[in-house]
Order: sequence, then structure tokens, then C-alpha cells
Amino acid sequence: MLDYSYASQLKIAVEKLKNSHEETNPAFLAMEDLFGMNRTRLMIDGEKEMPEAERQMLHKVIDEVCSGKPYQYVIGFSWFYGEKFKVNENVLIPRNETEELVQLVLKETADDGKTAADIGTGTGIIPIILGKHWTHNRLFAVDISEKALDVARENNHLHNTKTVLLKGDLFEPLIEQGIRVDVLISNPPYISSDETEYMSRSTLEYEPAVALYAGDSGLALYKKMINELPKVMNDRGKVYFEIGFRQGEALRDYIVSIWPNTVPEIENDINGNPRILHFMWER
Ligand code: GLN
Repeated sequence: MLDYSYASQLKIAVEKLKNSHEETNPAFLAMEDLFGMNRTRLMIDGEKEMPEAERQMLHKVIDEVCSGKPYQYVIGFSWFYGEKFKVNENVLIPRNETEELVQLVLKETADDGKTAADIGTGTGIIPIILGKHWTHNRLFAVDISEKALDVARENNHLHNTKTVLLKGDLFEPLIEQGIRVDVLISNPPYISSDETEYMSRSTLEYEPAVALYAGDSGLALYKKMINELPKVMNDRGKVYFEIGFRQGEALRDYIVSIWPNTVPEIENDINGNPRILHFMWER
């Protein structure tokens, strides 16, 4: 007799993933994200029969993941900072490391009427989480991709935050509108074209190139922003960049060469990799 229990369907899903040499985590995530079956509930209700519609949904999702598509794109959402965000193939899937960037900005920024901007916002995770914590600070977010902005717009709406979304290349829309900021945040594309060997197949095949790559060993967009700080920063404003784990030194040297009075600091992420570079901008 076929066993249609949640527990055995989960087992089948895990086997499918293993056979496709994919991580098995999506099977557990799907059980929880789609049917509310977290590990505790599986222990209690795991032997209950899983309705046919749910079984079909589970296996449709798992089959797509087996073909290499990232789980988050398959189900259409991702979690970040404890909140649910819409994602699709026009935006990067949120990474855990970026939570640490948001945490640092929240820790260091008073909610007293400052202006902040996120450059290359993608899903909009950064300004939206900040917006959930701030009531007095104003938030702008820029992206060059209209399709990414569509996703950010939906997330902004979903979370009822009031980030002002602007289309353009890096600082361009801020400069055009004469907007100056006290806090500048960016997790820009920073992967160098020779680093693809460190990337997963699913990222290479599915995540948008416009969100991933930059020239000049991945430093091109940081350098452009660093050069143009006087056009958008208020005096002694703060800058927060998420960086690639091998970029800290080169970027620090570059910043100091352009702005010698500035003292960049580098923070390690939870895995001990240099991941955040931040500084108070001094002319
Ligand atoms: N700011 C978004 C994030 O942190 C998008 C980053 C990107 O596309 N490079 O996920």
C-alpha cells in the first residue's frame, strides 16, 4: 500500500533531492513554508495523511529544485530578518550576511529625522527592514533594473513601509533630485568575472547577472560611489558597504587614497569573513 503520510512524502522528497545531488534542506523548508509542517509538527502529525493537492504541490516544487532552480525562486518568496519577501529571477535572493549589515546600521543610526539611501536595492530588503524600525528617518532606494524595482515595490507595499523607490544608475537619481543623505548603504554587484568557480550552479544559472558582477576585480561600483560621495553625502555622513570576502584591503586603500581623512573599518561576518566596510565620510 502507498504511504501518503507527511513523514513518508518528506522522505520521498529528500530522496529525490539526494538523487539529483541537491541539498536536502528544501524538502524540510517546503514542508514548513507551504504546509506549516515544521519539525515539531511533523513529530506530532507526521503520520497523518497528506491531501493529494498538497502532495502534488510538494513534488512540483521539489522537482523544480532538482532541476537546479533555487528553492526561493520556485516558491516565490524568501525570509530575511524574520520577514517574508517576494523574490523572482529579477532579483538576488537575500543572503544571511546582509542581515548583519542591516543590524549594524540599526545599531549605529538614531531615528531622529535622518535621510538614508540604499543603492542597488533589489528585493528592497535593506530599506524595508530599516523602515520597519524607524519612524522619523526617511528612506530612499535606488536600482537600475525596472524589473527589480517592481519586486521592491511589491515588498514595500506588503510590509507597509514608505521607502521611496527610484530608478537609475547608482547615485544618478539622487543627484538629479538633489537628495542628500546622512546614511548610505549598498550591497552592490561585486563579483569578479574570474570568481565564478566559487559560485553555485544555481546562482550562475538563475540569479540575475546585473545583480552579481562588476568590473575591476568586482570593485568598479564601489569605486564609482566612493568618487561621487560629495554629490550625495551630507557632511560626516556614514557609509555602509557589504563587500566580497577578499575585497576589504583593496577597498580600504582606495577609500583612503581618495579621502585621506576617512578611517574605514571592516567587520567580519558570522563565518569570520570580512564582510562589511563602513566609515564616516570626511572630506
Ligand atoms: N540589496 C539587495 C540585497 O542585499 C540586492 C543586492 C544585489 O542585487 N547586489 O540582497
